[in-house]
Amino acid sequence: MLHNDNLEQWDRENFFHASTHLAEFARGNIPQRVIKTASGVHIEDRDGNRMLDAFAGLYCVNVGYGRPEIAEAIADQAKELAYYHSYVGHGTEASITLAKMVMDRAPDHMSKVYFGQSGSDANETNIKLIWYYNNILGRPKKKKIISRWRGYHGSGLMTGSLTGLDLFHKKFDLPLAQVIHTEAPFYFQRKDLGQSESEFVAHCVAELEAMIHAEGADTIAAFIGEPVLGTGGIVPPPAGYWPAIQEVLDRHDILLVADEVVTGFGRLGTMFGSDHYGMRPDLITIAKGLTSAYAPLSGSIVSDKMWAVLEKGTDENGPIGHGWTYSAHPIGAAAGVANLELIDKLGLVENAGTVGTYLNTQMRAALTDHPHVGDVRGEGMLCAVEFVADKDSRSFYDAADKIGPQIAGKLLEQSNVIARAMPQGDILGFAPPFCLTKDEADQVVTATHQAVASVLG
Ligand code: PMP
Repeated sequence: MLHNDNLEQWDRENFFHASTHLAEFARGNIPQRVIKTASGVHIEDRDGNRMLDAFAGLYCVNVGYGRPEIAEAIADQAKELAYYHSYVGHGTEASITLAKMVMDRAPDHMSKVYFGQSGSDANETNIKLIWYYNNILGRPKKKKIISRWRGYHGSGLMTGSLTGLDLFHKKFDLPLAQVIHTEAPFYFQRKDLGQSESEFVAHCVAELEAMIHAEGADTIAAFIGEPVLGTGGIVPPPAGYWPAIQEVLDRHDILLVADEVVTGFGRLGTMFGSDHYGMRPDLITIAKGLTSAYAPLSGSIVSDKMWAVLEKGTDENGPIGHGWTYSAHPIGAAAGVANLELIDKLGLVENAGTVGTYLNTQMRAALTDHPHVGDVRGEGMLCAVEFVADKDSRSFYDAADKIGPQIAGKLLEQSNVIARAMPQGDILGFAPPFCLTKDEADQVVTATHQAVASVLG
């Protein structure tokens, strides 16, 4: 059945693809890619084309593909106990063990982890917990959430609202009213080109302060942000950004959610991005790297401060009214345990730091001088190249020219290397598995250089 010759036809007739131009797909203008197998940093389609996946799927296959340790842990778990729920005090050996492993790695001031299935549902959980927390504290008005333009936090109703990208709002009646967006810490795209990095940080902080004053601190519950903006363009924050934001939030009693779906479990060369930037979150969102995507599992890590209030809330109101059938699914949990063990055993957090830094250094050396490369930036195993129409005036191409997608297309066509054309702006993103070698990093850089030359000269 799986190997049927009609697969391409079945695909067009039956399959509603995520984040896809539906009409263009139906017209046959978007290639069908049926991925069949994978190993290490390479994936292979059913026609036998082998590609170097320099985006680790959707920056999630952090340990690389084809790891027998994780596959076997999943199979063993499925045979022993495919499912049991986590309601009313139930657990499984896998889910309890994974909770212990996550909390051993989390910052010291964190207390417990709640498991979901996706980054989106983990952020939904976070917002519910924040609202519950303020209700228990007798602050029913303190409910608004500040997010950043270009932030990405999921595509549900609340999480799609938190996401600060037009595509995720347009025609969906989003964002919901409780969500407001502030300036992204995107130094390269600052409006005032004369601003120094520290002046730009001061500007972001002033914008946040002004928003808090305009709305009233007593109406604002939380601020959510990725340590490094991901889908919005792979943008490490300017120096001093997080400590300055943290100071404002603390002063106004506003909770901080660190969305570490991309950065959690090593992508920046540290276990969490919060560690890397000195953030002190009240909630941490985890997903992708928790299982390296071998099975869907996410989590919300809750601080001591919030946990005390949640416990009090259940004393007053009964059990917490929040649960998914698949919360702490044992197959996901077994994958998570095997994945975190593998990361430790192979020293992959360290590798993400060293090879990631190498990738960034080489990419910068190869591309910075190109007349249409405006910025090469990154941190750990995250890297981005941003293209400009004119370097001196820093003017951008028309979106209709699709420069980013054209370069990503060339990269694949010429060199079988997968990078991601980020959804807003002409930005080529790289987020390889942590097991990338320096040779493979060189291959990615050389191929990118060639693709850029083919499209932009
Ligand atoms: N937060 C961040 C930072 C993400 O990058 C993503 C997914 N790219 C999500 C949340 C949503 O995760 P999911 O797609 O698993 O719902």
